[in-house]
Amino acid sequence: RDEGQDQHHADIAGELVRRHEGRIEVEQANHRLERLASTDPLTGLANRRAFMAQFESALDRHAATGRWLCLLLIDIDHFKALNDRFGHPAGDAALSRVAAAMTGSLGESGIVARHGGEEFAVLLPETDPGAGYALAERLRRDIALLRDLPAPVTISIGLSPCPPGSGQDDIARAELIALADRALYAAKAAGRNRVVTARRQQA
Ligand code: GH3
Ligand code: MG
Ligand code: MG
Repeated sequence: RDEGQDQHHADIAGELVRRHEGRIEVEQANHRLERLASTDPLTGLANRRAFMAQFESALDRHAATGRWLCLLLIDIDHFKALNDRFGHPAGDAALSRVAAAMTGSLGESGIVARHGGEEFAVLLPETDPGAGYALAERLRRDIALLRDLPAPVTISIGLSPCPPGSGQDDIARAELIALADRALYAAKAAGRNRVVTARRQQA
């Protein structure tokens, strides 16, 4: 037996184990960074960047499957007044509560993201315009019924139904978002606390 050689083999084995462990640590760190880069810290929801990536892959999938999907843009009504009345920290807490309530209300039917400020975006995969409207309306009602907030909160919702095969390029995708945004604006103009479906040109 060559003890020197045994020791040499043991050293190599130890080095391989350390390298493997090092690689796992790097992978875990990358994973944490990815999560951090795609999550909104206040609400824990996906941020706008992550949402856009999900929206794009959903559109790709739906082009292939021939299913509809719906995009909702949501804005809290008169949120500035809540901040002014109860302070910014209470506003933050309310945002976070509303975010959790939206996630709960949608359950498995959709993905909520923080689109920025007091605006949220929801993706409803495999959802036709009728079902999308029903889900949006339930969401609106669930938020209006929340009682564990400093004051009642309502939301306005713009619904953009995306037919199968729509949004094949960047311009068409931007148009689906612009349609939701215009519908949201119309919901505000019509008095808030309501859902408006985007009007699209007939083919
Ligand atoms: P509208 O019904 O027209 O949407 O009225 P609004 O007051 O909600 O709209 P406006 O755009 O005038 O004000 C948005 C407010 O949302 C102002 C801003 O300070 C508040 N806001 C945005 N992001 C945050 C946040 O992260 N925390 C808190 N506390 N407030 C926020
Ligand atoms: Mg706003
Ligand atoms: Mg608002």
